[in-house]
Amino acid sequence: MPDAARACFMTVDVEDWFHSYNYGPLVSRDHWPNYESRVERNTERVLDILARCSVRGTFFVLGWVGERFPHLVRRVAGAGHEVASHGYWHEPVYSLTPDAFRDDVQRSKAVLEDVTGLPVLGYRAPCFSITNWALPILREAGFTYDSSFFPLTAHDRYGRLEGIEPNAGPFEVIEGLTELCISCLPAGPVALPWGGGGYFRLVPFGLWRLGIERILRRGAPYIFYIHPWDMDPGQPHMAGMGRLNAWRQRVNLSRCAERLEALAGAFSWQPIGEALAAPRAAPSAPRPAPLPTGAVSMAGRA
Ligand SMILES: [Zn+2]
Repeated sequence: MPDAARACFMTVDVEDWFHSYNYGPLVSRDHWPNYESRVERNTERVLDILARCSVRGTFFVLGWVGERFPHLVRRVAGAGHEVASHGYWHEPVYSLTPDAFRDDVQRSKAVLEDVTGLPVLGYRAPCFSITNWALPILREAGFTYDSSFFPLTAHDRYGRLEGIEPNAGPFEVIEGLTELCISCLPAGPVALPWGGGGYFRLVPFGLWRLGIERILRRGAPYIFYIHPWDMDPGQPHMAGMGRLNAWRQRVNLSRCAERLEALAGAFSWQPIGEALAAPRAAPSAPRPAPLPTGAVSMAGRA
């Protein structure tokens, strides 16, 4: 088993196209049942790609999706992937009270554990919206790791953990809870978002791959994320979106499946929970030198 501090983690945030924050107030959860659901076919495309590449990863499933498509969650688990939680309602953590956050994560965990019969150990906050006060609540709810912090110094939607160095990890962020930051790439005075999603669709694949190799050479793990809708050019258009958000949602959708397959075949991946449980996966790995504090805000979504 590779050392978790130098591993590559393939992660999938399982949600439908209309869960994206790019739609903002255009979509309310009261209307979710009215939209065309494409999460099942899109997640199955991801599963097929990973199967062709013999890759196993971690799927952070939205509780609302898991409740409606339990057979899909069981297929994910049956293929050898880890099932983890993306919350239930896809609300930003910083928009909730602690009690509402506790209810949301407990509900999602219960749904997914009921469906799979397996413990759910990992959590990823919607839109990387993690905040410090949420960490003890995750631990109390029975999670052992969080992979929600995108260590950019500025972004219009992401959350923040104070005192955390970029690309550190995995490390024990509070007692009993390991944090795995989303990967960033140092580039001169800034740290570029190099974790996946819209950034992965935007950057040419050859350059993206070189960036991963550079991150790994620094001794950090590489943590990649993708949404099933990131590779669905047939997802509906929604009237009323601003130009920036429409671009964030749709740039290079048609190229993403091919790129994902190339990426999956280019590195050695493993589920997060499995790596953290391995004897060599020290939970408090030495932290690499901090990255420069600049940041770029482009097309990433969680
Ligand atoms: Zn999400």
